[in-house]
Amino acid sequence: MSIIVKNVVKFYGKQKALDDVSFTIDEGKIVGFLGPNGAGKSTMMKIITGFISKTSGEVLVNDMDIDEQSLGVRRIIGYLPENNPLNLEMYVREYLLFVAGIYKLGKNKDDKINEMIELTGLTPEQNKKIGELSKGFRQRLGLAQALLHDPEVLILDEPTSGLDPNQIIEIRDLIQRVGKKKTVMLSTHIMQEVEAICDEVIIINQGKIVAKEKIENIHSVVEEKTQTIIVEFDKTVSQEMLVKIKGVQKVVGIDKNKWLFEAPVSEDIRPEIFNFAVKNNLTVLSQQKKEMSLEEVFQQLTK
Ligand code: ADP
Ligand code: MG
Repeated sequence: MSIIVKNVVKFYGKQKALDDVSFTIDEGKIVGFLGPNGAGKSTMMKIITGFISKTSGEVLVNDMDIDEQSLGVRRIIGYLPENNPLNLEMYVREYLLFVAGIYKLGKNKDDKINEMIELTGLTPEQNKKIGELSKGFRQRLGLAQALLHDPEVLILDEPTSGLDPNQIIEIRDLIQRVGKKKTVMLSTHIMQEVEAICDEVIIINQGKIVAKEKIENIHSVVEEKTQTIIVEFDKTVSQEMLVKIKGVQKVVGIDKNKWLFEAPVSEDIRPEIFNFAVKNNLTVLSQQKKEMSLEEVFQQLTK
């Protein structure tokens, strides 16, 4: 197990930012860390990376305790902080040399820097001052910094926030590429991002973990009271007729001859819809159950 967080509590003064947080992240997984602003995401990430201390609890990274073996942990973690603070007066290469010094990369540091510049697509900007870089390139530099010492674990705090849609896709591709060989925990507000690149999702709300699930099973986290079924008929049919089907609570037209039915989970409305179709000389072309999306689960758990 790569990251183990056990009963972590964090107080800032009297304010409890993390309230008995426990979760594990398996080696090699890309995990999305979701939560509304102020939920405690950055606090949790700063604790794992050793930037701030926890009030109580235990954190292990690759079996090393973050308090007892803090240097060992830092060596295997790459961290991109939220709103990555960079010295705008420094040059790109100068900054990476500085980071290489911190990690004592020694004589192969130039090779490593060249490799990271290439990997993160910084080649055309490598001789510029950081202040001259666009936000997208600053974020690439942040990733280059986080990856320079070839860490096994990557902690990325809102790596795509503030970027335009093209930059978001570029950074996302980069994370996906480097994430193949690493354990990655990333926070974001973009649900499609989690669906696109993460294996699992952890949702935190007001300092408490409210869900941890594989992306494909996220719909099962919330117990649904209503079921949603999408049905496509071969011919036009009126909404008034459809709402009269036994058990149906609500009908919404979503496309030509395609309807979304809502019913209580306790009722199986599929046979009723089928009988309705036969009686009215309609054919059911397709019928599928609509599972709750990550976005809907997130809203339910954090509202
Ligand atoms: P997130 O990253 O999910 O938006 P944070 O971890 O930044 O949330 O913050 C969690 C809570 O802790 C918030 O209520 C925030 O105001 C508070 N907080 C964060 N950092 C500090 C700090 N240095 N001092 C006091 N309170 C803080
Ligand atoms: Mg944050």
